[in-house]
Parts: sequence; structure tokens; C-alpha cells
Amino acid sequence: MTDTLNRFILETTNVRGEWVHLDATWQALLERYAYPPVVRDLLGQALAAVALLSATIKFDGSLILQVTGSGPVNLLVVQASGHGTVRGLARWQSEVPAGDLAAQFGDGRMVMTIDPGQGRERYQGIVPLEGSSLSAALEGYFTRSEQLPTRLWLAADGQRAAGLLLQALPGEDRDPDAFNRATTLADTLQDQELLELPVQTLLHRLYHEEDVRLLDGSPVSFRCGCSRERVGEMLRNLGRPEVDSILEDEGRVEVNCEFCNAGYRFDAVDVEQLFTEGEPPPGSRTRH
Ligand SMILES: [Zn+2]
Repeated sequence: MTDTLNRFILETTNVRGEWVHLDATWQALLERYAYPPVVRDLLGQALAAVALLSATIKFDGSLILQVTGSGPVNLLVVQASGHGTVRGLARWQSEVPAGDLAAQFGDGRMVMTIDPGQGRERYQGIVPLEGSSLSAALEGYFTRSEQLPTRLWLAADGQRAAGLLLQALPGEDRDPDAFNRATTLADTLQDQELLELPVQTLLHRLYHEEDVRLLDGSPVSFRCGCSRERVGEMLRNLGRPEVDSILEDEGRVEVNCEFCNAGYRFDAVDVEQLFTEGEPPPGSRTRH
């Protein structure tokens, strides 16, 4: 099975884990932009990371990881929703070296925005980008924000993006060495194993001496979530004078979604409707 997120538990310990493989989802994203391999692999790792980190978010929640920098890569943004959809993009301005994050992003920072869903308050954490890899930077973020001890292993290539997460749950520690033992074993994983092995094989390879319970998998898919209504809303927020001036210069307003490349076009009549209608009455939100 591909494009799946699985959770697992090391029985009789406080260690829980997640594993994710993105195939068709990753391909769908790569079809939209031609990324240089180094940028592509960063984006794939980030996408696997948000898929893993969003596994505990409610259906209507979302998680956004954004990395900005002054270096060759200036933007990396990935988003996962509580119902298993992911999207993401990266922007770069010059040749991106393989190697560590500092060389790729320069002076960077990492912003994690969590909307837990169900009307609960949004949370945003901002930290300087530190560590040699994206997984190291994320682990640093968890440590700084005093969250549960969490380790991540991330890999991506032109075919697939994959990730493994281990977390030590709070509570009575029946087996104090378990997290250390589990992460030490996971540190022996090669990228290729993470990318290619099915979850059962991978868990057996790592934890055949532990009592592992693999829980049911859930699907992950690429879905942008942009719509004509949302773009219209964005134009309304921009304000009539601004939109009119674009209309005057260009004859129409064209907006391309950065995530999925979908194009939305508003002519003079559309713009008129947009600003005279205000909030459309219930039931009439879908037009065109
Ligand atoms: Zn879109």
C-alpha cells in the first residue's frame, strides 16, 4: 500500500511511532514544478514531516511548516490537514548546494503553525533554523518548545518521500531505556531502507526484539484546497481600489495558486459581482 500513514506502539514501553510513505502524492506535487534535486529532496522531507506531525490533529485542523532564509533556498512551505491531505512548495533563487541547511537557507527561521481544529486556538512557534538537516531542525524545535521527546527520520528522492517518527509519551516510565533503545536502532536506518521498505519489513528490521503493535494505516493524498471562492475572498480583502487598478492595467485579474498552479480569472463583471454581492447568501457559494 502506498501513500499511507501508519502508527505503531512498542508494547510495554512509552514509545509510540509513525511511519509515512508518499508515492502518488509526491508525484502529483512534482508534476507541478520542476525542482532541482536538492530542493526536491528538501521539499519531500518537509512533506513527510508534516504528514507525520499532523497525525494527531483533528479532522478540521491543519499544520503548516514554513522555513524562510536568505540563502539559495528562500522559502519552503508545507501544509497537512487533519483529513490526510498535504500540499507544499519551495522557492529558490540560485544554485542550491547539497549539504547542510545553513548552506541551503543561509540565515533561516522555522515557523510552525498549528490549528488544532474544533474551534481551538491556533498556535504558532518560531525558532531560528538550526541543525544540519531538516529532521535535526525539527527535533531542535521540539526541544526548545518543551514538547514530548520526538525524533524524526526523513528521506525523499524523485520517486518517493518517506518518514519515521518516534515519540516518548508522558506517564509512568515502565521501561526507562526504551526511547533511547528505539532511537538508537532507528539511527541505523539508511535513507534507501526508509524509502523502499514496507512498514512491516522496516519495523521487523529495527524492532524484531521488541513487541511492536502496528495500527491500521490511513491514506494520505495531495489536495490543494484552493477554490474560486477563496481567491474571491482574498481579492475582497485586497480592496476594491487595488483590484480596480489591476483590472485597468491588465483588463482582468488573474491569480495562480502557488501550490497547485490552478489559474483563477476574474473579468470586470466578476469583479463587480465580487464587490457588490458582499457575502453571498447561503447556498450560493459555488458559482461557475
Ligand atoms: Zn491550489
